[in-house]
Amino acid sequence: MDLESSMAYNLRKRDFLNKKIPNLGSTSGSDNESNDSTHSDPDYGKPMPARNNGRPSGAIQRGGGIRIGDTAPASSSKHAATTQKRRPGRPPKAKANGAEDRLGNIEERCTRRKRKNISQSPVGCIYKRTVLAWLISLGIVGQHQKVSYVDEDSGRILAGGKIRAEGIVCDCCSRVITVGDFEIHAGRDTKKPYQHIFLASSQISLLECQIEAWVDRKEEGNRAYNNVQPAPEATDKSDDACMVCADGGNLVCCERCPSTCHSSCIFVGDNISGDEWLCPYCVCKYCARGDGTLKKCTHCEKQYHCKCGGEKLDLNSPTSLFCGDSCKQIYEGLQSMLGVRNDLVGGLSWTLLQRTEPIFTAHAGVDYNKVVVNSKIAVAWMVMNECFVSSIDRYSKANVVQSIVYNIGSNLTRLNFSGFYTAVLEKNDEIICAASVRVHGKRLAEMPFIGTRREFRRRGVARTLENCVESVLCDLKVEKLVIPSLQQLTGMWTEKYLFSNIEEDRLKMELSQYNTVTFPSSVVRLQKTLSTLPDLNGGPSPSETNEGSLNAI
Ligand SMILES: [Zn+2]
Ligand SMILES: [Zn+2]
Ligand SMILES: [Zn+2]
Ligand SMILES: [Zn+2]
Ligand SMILES: [Zn+2]
Repeated sequence: MDLESSMAYNLRKRDFLNKKIPNLGSTSGSDNESNDSTHSDPDYGKPMPARNNGRPSGAIQRGGGIRIGDTAPASSSKHAATTQKRRPGRPPKAKANGAEDRLGNIEERCTRRKRKNISQSPVGCIYKRTVLAWLISLGIVGQHQKVSYVDEDSGRILAGGKIRAEGIVCDCCSRVITVGDFEIHAGRDTKKPYQHIFLASSQISLLECQIEAWVDRKEEGNRAYNNVQPAPEATDKSDDACMVCADGGNLVCCERCPSTCHSSCIFVGDNISGDEWLCPYCVCKYCARGDGTLKKCTHCEKQYHCKCGGEKLDLNSPTSLFCGDSCKQIYEGLQSMLGVRNDLVGGLSWTLLQRTEPIFTAHAGVDYNKVVVNSKIAVAWMVMNECFVSSIDRYSKANVVQSIVYNIGSNLTRLNFSGFYTAVLEKNDEIICAASVRVHGKRLAEMPFIGTRREFRRRGVARTLENCVESVLCDLKVEKLVIPSLQQLTGMWTEKYLFSNIEEDRLKMELSQYNTVTFPSSVVRLQKTLSTLPDLNGGPSPSETNEGSLNAI
């Protein structure tokens, strides 16, 4: 059994895809669900338990915020508040017994503006996961539309071609090539091909097309901030689900933010000392106190007292502050890798992405790298969206996987995914595998989701990407990686991939101090110590993976 078959459950239904989407072509590998390299949370897709007032909870408010529902039925003694600091959350959820598949029609999702003289190919739009295919799906450019590579200085046209979802058909060689290769065929190597390739009809560059796509209303909706607000009739502003386990029940409320927790999940027992409880993100990470002036770390988002450790305001870079040297090094290491393409063998490359805005500033103009990274985030979301059933947080209705891929923030710590990065594996210009990674500091990183496109499964693709991610984490001196796993697959993870169960209370206690993505109790969390470079047997050769990470940092 390999990695490709290790994390499979709750995936998009294949037969559905085959039925609904025309001309997908033949599929490689078996049709067994277990050949997918993905893990997901079946419970997120489940509907909210019924409320006593019949009002749908967590409905979107007019202002666009997601509101916190009211309390659970008071008739249940299980949920009765025992102290002032506690509140009845939503009823604890039942064991996962299969999630409903909420797959919508992908074809319908490809909204296309009707434009004159643009021929559209729904097959290409659905089938390929490239920046060009994304532009086609939004109707910004058309399949077969003519493009020219224009020399920056002279304004001369150096090459011509036609747009396809998978690349550009080059006039000089009649082959479909990547956007980067098209620039090479034009005799240039600026590494900014999208900036120099123009639509022949309108003289708009493919970079400007990406900016237009990024501010498209539908695309903007994909990255809306998760502003969780209490329902008008709610008795308090606190969350209805535990920030550690996402379950309801008898919850302790943070006095400063909407986060709540089971006392057992944070290992404090039933007697919370002092007058108030503050969650791990509302206290100093060093002394665990919440008094005095607290600064917030740009990387791990924990707070700290300057006297306890960490940086005071740096006038040279007032936009970032770090709780310590390790967070600063990890943050700078990851940020320096953003958008840097790391070539592997076989036409494969991997790239680290994170949505960053704004994409232009008054003094520096458009940031080419940010525009392209953001476009690839949009494409990575298309890949993740076809791999996973919609993971809707039952309480806030936030789309969890989408929020993670777009690293969307929230006023609720549990739903604050702003620290996430997305690692993508590309074959030529096409994203074939994507993984979500968040580094909480030198002690811990998490990789809750990794998904491979259907036709690329069973080829070691996910393992290649996972190795690249592990190499980077090792280089950044991160100590542990945690992943979610199905109960029945933990044996394979522990034996072949050197992950182990999180058994010691000390580690569980430590984990409860971090804002990791919450999974239902049916999902087992595994950990791996990253003191050595990953075992690359069966994956790419060591040199190729090392090269990938070393070149980038
Ligand atoms: Zn050519
Ligand atoms: Zn809990
Ligand atoms: Zn708090
Ligand atoms: Zn402190
Ligand atoms: Zn930090």
